[in-house]
Amino acid sequence: MVEELNPFRISQMELDKAAKIMGLDETAHALLREPKRTVVVNVPVRMRDGSVKTFIGFRVLYNDARGPGKGGIRFHPEESLDTVKALSAWMTWKTSLANIPFGGAKGGVICNPKELNEAELESLSRNYIRAICREIGPDVDVPAPDVYTTPQIMAWMMDEYSNLVGKQEFGMITGKPTEVWGSEGRFDSTAMGGMYVLREAAKLKKLNLKNAKIAIQGFGNAGRFAFEIAEKLSGSKVVAVSDSSGGIYSKGGIDYEKLVKAKTAGGNVQAYKEADKITNEELLELDVDVIIPAALENQITEKNADKIKAKIVLELANGPVTPGADRILFEKGILDMPDFLVNSGGVIVSYFEWTQNRQGYYWKENEVYSRLDEIVTRSFNDVMNTQKEYLEKKVKISPRTAAYIVAVGRVAKAMKIRGWY
Ligand code: GLU
Repeated sequence: MVEELNPFRISQMELDKAAKIMGLDETAHALLREPKRTVVVNVPVRMRDGSVKTFIGFRVLYNDARGPGKGGIRFHPEESLDTVKALSAWMTWKTSLANIPFGGAKGGVICNPKELNEAELESLSRNYIRAICREIGPDVDVPAPDVYTTPQIMAWMMDEYSNLVGKQEFGMITGKPTEVWGSEGRFDSTAMGGMYVLREAAKLKKLNLKNAKIAIQGFGNAGRFAFEIAEKLSGSKVVAVSDSSGGIYSKGGIDYEKLVKAKTAGGNVQAYKEADKITNEELLELDVDVIIPAALENQITEKNADKIKAKIVLELANGPVTPGADRILFEKGILDMPDFLVNSGGVIVSYFEWTQNRQGYYWKENEVYSRLDEIVTRSFNDVMNTQKEYLEKKVKISPRTAAYIVAVGRVAKAMKIRGWY
């Protein structure tokens, strides 16, 4: 049988599996299998040559039983409604597992930001917000950055929204630059949260991170900071890294500063010369202690899961491991830490940003990190304790299924108490 790779179908399959094990109410299950609201918009943008080009955009509110929708906006040439629906479902589970007062949502625009100049990008960002402005707001649905969207884009969006509603509405979006009241620590928060999970996972696996070798797939916001923080925080060595054009591997480790310089000058990580060139697929199969998929979906599938040699898989991207691969990794005894736990640091600090915006009182960076650590460690323990509870009932479940049981259970309870079923 060919493995299902449609991300929305995957998100439904993961939910179905957890629903069966936890004995989820049928109506709650049906409500949680589909988004609550899907919006598709057509966004016109005046291009540099005077012509007007239209872009298709989406905003999906998956569930808001526990609070306003929350989730990023992606600008990507291969964006699709199904990807955005899947990502909005994963945001629902992410905010629930972290136990923060939000539901889940996601947005996206089909475009290639690398082909747009700054004026076009600003215009697209502002016009997209105009198109969806009735669907969002600090108490309705709060966007944030994701693949190929930046703090600058968040600032334009906040400005556009504030103009539309006629007041300063900083809390309508998170991941803003600190000059317009983004939170300290937001930029590297996804990677930081992932490192707290790695610290706890390593304890469980009795892996000394000081001597650990790490391979990172992806060198965007999450991957780049993961590299920097992994070395600084734990003394581990990053021996391989990649981006969309391919990867590099050096047994003795890769020098972060030199790599950043090489990538800036040459456009990709392979511009770093003191390492061997490898493919993105080869990177995942390296003989290392930890692999960190920090790029896109469906990277570890039934096809390559058996070839993974690492002790820990830290899913910093959204959806990098398919359900079939999750099962294989679990059977092989590899500790695969699920995406909506590992990369929850981003949305947790987004929550701090929203809270600070509403209070008008701002926290120091170390306050942000220590509160983030507390929440991520609590989520990790919730997942591992649930896995243990089921094991005591002689039901063996992967950390992903355990995470689903915790997250889905909380959303279902909120829906029940509110009277949705
Ligand atoms: N885009 C990030 C994620 O997938 C952050 C979302 C947010 O901060 O709302 O978790």
